[in-house]
Amino acid sequence: MSRIGFIGLGNMGGPMAANLVRAGHHVTGFDLVPAGLAAHAAAGGAVADTVSGVLEGAEIVFTMLPAGRHVREVYLGAGGLIAAAGGHPPLFVDCSTIDVETARAVAGEAGGMLDAPVSGGVGGATAGTLTFMVGGPEESFSRAHPYFAAMGKNIVHAGDAGAGQAAKICNNMILGISMIGVAEAFVLAERLELDFSKLFQISAASSGQCWSLTSYCPVPGPVPASPANRDYAPGFAAALMLKDLTLAQQAADASGAATPLGAHAMRVYQAMAESGDEGRDFSYVFRWLADRARGEVG
Ligand code: NAD
Repeated sequence: MSRIGFIGLGNMGGPMAANLVRAGHHVTGFDLVPAGLAAHAAAGGAVADTVSGVLEGAEIVFTMLPAGRHVREVYLGAGGLIAAAGGHPPLFVDCSTIDVETARAVAGEAGGMLDAPVSGGVGGATAGTLTFMVGGPEESFSRAHPYFAAMGKNIVHAGDAGAGQAAKICNNMILGISMIGVAEAFVLAERLELDFSKLFQISAASSGQCWSLTSYCPVPGPVPASPANRDYAPGFAAALMLKDLTLAQQAADASGAATPLGAHAMRVYQAMAESGDEGRDFSYVFRWLADRARGEVG
């Protein structure tokens, strides 16, 4: 059994911390929202009343926060983890999805820290089947591995500090673009009166095959588990896809990478969000495009 700190007990952090408790660890959690703390206590965790309260005897501290500014505040702010830990810090692991620049800046202040964003959503967090994409020193990765294994199934050391965040935004840029590609094919099929099930049968076994088609099909019918069959309840909300595509474009701007389709995909999800559909699953882009006329979407 280890003593673990966990900050950010939201949709993802809550079930992740619960899986660490289930694995037999003593997990002290902190969140600004009382409901997160109550759920953590109900799952068998201990609660702290400040950020630094999770440090007490902890060997490792995880954070799972909304965005880069929250991560800066929790690690570098007044009363933050780095100042409070002093000369004997635990291993810090940030699992939030944030910009590469912030991940590297925080890691620069906290020796040996890991950035370890995840994919797999709330379902994967609950089932303990997340993918962890990890950046930071090899030695820290080895130390953290058993804890990742209690929360996930696919655990990859991607490289130095920031490499986990880089892997996450590259992967989600593929996903954002490919989902729009699949959605556009079904939009055209609908206009051409081609049966969805026929297009699926053909493309799933030919060169149009991809995850967005065969595992997460954006039209109702062909893939029973996909959100299209439950009125596009997320799943993975369009707002989160927009967040990740925006992070990818910030990184592309900073590094000079040419990513024209990534930029366009970001604008499509931006327009979808402006229509009030940011809370729907990102595969709703099919219905959103189908409801628009040619020339209406830039
Ligand atoms: P969430 O908003 O449900 O949870 C974040 C929690 O952090 C909240 O409970 C909030 O109160 C807490 N928090 C914010 N500032 C804090 C502070 N200063 N001190 C303590 N607690 C603080 O978000 P989530 O869905 O759990 O996502 C967390 C991260 O995981 C995000 O970066 C997101 O992009 C990423 N992610 C989410 C999903 C998903 O499907 N939800 C999938 C993969 C990755």
